[in-house]
Amino acid sequence: MKWHFLGGANQVTGSKHLLVTDQARILFDCGLFQGRRKESEDINRNLGFNPAGVDAMVLSHAHIDHCGNIPTLARNGYRNPIHATTATADLLPIMLRDSARIQEADAAYLNQKTNRRGLPPIIPLYTVEDAEAAIQLIQPHKYAEELLLPGGIRLTHVDAGHILGAALARLEIPRQGGPPLRVALTFDLGRKNLPLLHDPVQIRDVDIVISESTYGDRDHLDARHEGEDLRLAVNRALARGGKVMIPTFALGRAQEIIYLLAELREQNAIPDVPVYLDSPMAQAISRVFEFNLSYLDEDYHDLRSRIGSVMTAPWLRYTETVDESKAITSSSEPSIVLAASGMCEHGRILHHLKHGIENPANQVLLVGYQAVHTLGRRLQNKEPIVRIFGDEFEVRAEVETLGSFSAHADRNELFDYIQGTGAKYVFLVHGEQSQREAFATRLRDRLGIPVELPNNGDIVDLAQLPIPSK
Ligand SMILES: [Zn+2]
Repeated sequence: MKWHFLGGANQVTGSKHLLVTDQARILFDCGLFQGRRKESEDINRNLGFNPAGVDAMVLSHAHIDHCGNIPTLARNGYRNPIHATTATADLLPIMLRDSARIQEADAAYLNQKTNRRGLPPIIPLYTVEDAEAAIQLIQPHKYAEELLLPGGIRLTHVDAGHILGAALARLEIPRQGGPPLRVALTFDLGRKNLPLLHDPVQIRDVDIVISESTYGDRDHLDARHEGEDLRLAVNRALARGGKVMIPTFALGRAQEIIYLLAELREQNAIPDVPVYLDSPMAQAISRVFEFNLSYLDEDYHDLRSRIGSVMTAPWLRYTETVDESKAITSSSEPSIVLAASGMCEHGRILHHLKHGIENPANQVLLVGYQAVHTLGRRLQNKEPIVRIFGDEFEVRAEVETLGSFSAHADRNELFDYIQGTGAKYVFLVHGEQSQREAFATRLRDRLGIPVELPNNGDIVDLAQLPIPSK
């Protein structure tokens, strides 16, 4: 009963785990590794196992670091089911097609150079065709529905409270001469009180937890502050006649902001200015939210019963074409603009920043994680001059970071959750080393149980762990 930590063990990207028993091989997640080009190339092309020999795949959620390398599986012969929640099944085609288009475009761009030098052409990691093949394999399920996987392995998904459709998994793995081994997989764990989503559902009575540890050494502000923080920031910019530019991830944060703006408008807590969602992908995802209402919480349903469909509210303007997008960038009327990408690395947000960043009335509102070496991080660090499309711009707009926004549990929420599982053995993955080490110390000190920090490539025989029976 071997657990292979194949990816996303000692970093927060490229999540990938393989369970190998005498009867079956089950893959958990197949995320895209995102980092420097050469390193990413090697890691994403070499899966570390033969996909044709895998009996089933289980997907936790539709974030690209968990699902983005699934087309590579299909490209290399994987033809078995991909089990996911119904909402994840609706999101996955949007995410994989978009990722495949980016892979194809990147290869085409690089081939302009290689062609000139007479070098062999660069083959994309995967194509839209590979993504389509993978999409055919998805098998949707509801939370709490017990699945019988190959090898007699039982799996139940519960709500992770992380993004739409995200699931934590409870596994029962048969073992000879004893009761099944019970394992909880908590990647990624969300938070209580997030807008739109239900709180994470507690998994209980397991032997082992394999958990994310993204914020193993950090505390977040209460998620209930999000609306108030947004109200204060937006009003400040609109009062001076400025535009509010919000770089946002297309999945999750965009819909969260729309929901909060809908609430604030209903309470007359912010002015009636136009709100633009300038991201075709975020628009497609917002529609998926409206098809999956059972995944959304009471507050969302209450608001919806008062104002109608939140994601297609009349004041919310979806821009489809580049020309429509350009019309917003050139207009100086006070407005709120949401556009991708979330870290200002590419996408339409760059055009808005280019036109708006030198106006001191405007505001850039950062509502998500900004990785090092991104334009978003440079803005967050208050660098006075930034480069956009190769030109230098003076940052005269106000830049504000709203710290209450996060879809990941902080160290207290992670600790409480793991304690609630009753686990006797813990593996921490999906965290930078400093975050994992700090959190491991906390767990060992307070719960007195073994905590391991596996590296990518490590293999552990779960059946041989010294787990005391009750
Ligand atoms: Zn995630």
